[in-house]
Amino acid sequence: MEQILAKGRFHAAHRQLGYAGKCAWVHGHTWRGTFIVRAEAFPRDELDMSVDFGALKDIFKELDHRMLVSEQDTTFLDSGLFEPEGVVVMPGSNPSVENVTHYCMNEAVDRLTKLFPGRGIDYDLELTIQETENNFFTLRRTVTI
Ligand SMILES: [Zn+2]
Repeated sequence: MEQILAKGRFHAAHRQLGYAGKCAWVHGHTWRGTFIVRAEAFPRDELDMSVDFGALKDIFKELDHRMLVSEQDTTFLDSGLFEPEGVVVMPGSNPSVENVTHYCMNEAVDRLTKLFPGRGIDYDLELTIQETENNFFTLRRTVTI
């Protein structure tokens, strides 16, 4: 069994629509993410290297200094008010740590699929996103690509 661990962080803002409390207001966090990817044997590229750590860390980099929103947040999705390139739509009804984690996991699966398509390799992906000092969310997914 081989394992890759890649860590990154990004500074991003969000708000929780409908939340009864201060999280309803726009605020930012320094989010920290840790990917752990396991496979019996990773595919190798022409340089005999396996999954590029950068490809996973890029997912975090691309969220840096962005506003994370849901599709319901029509204020931030109004291109007359905010630059669309500064806004990233998360799945679900709010950009909660759970949904930010699902977004990053979906991106990881997409990138693995593009890097090494159709090899029939079983991957076990685990992603933990830390929103605050004490708030973590971990998602685990197994895929065959
Ligand atoms: Zn928050």
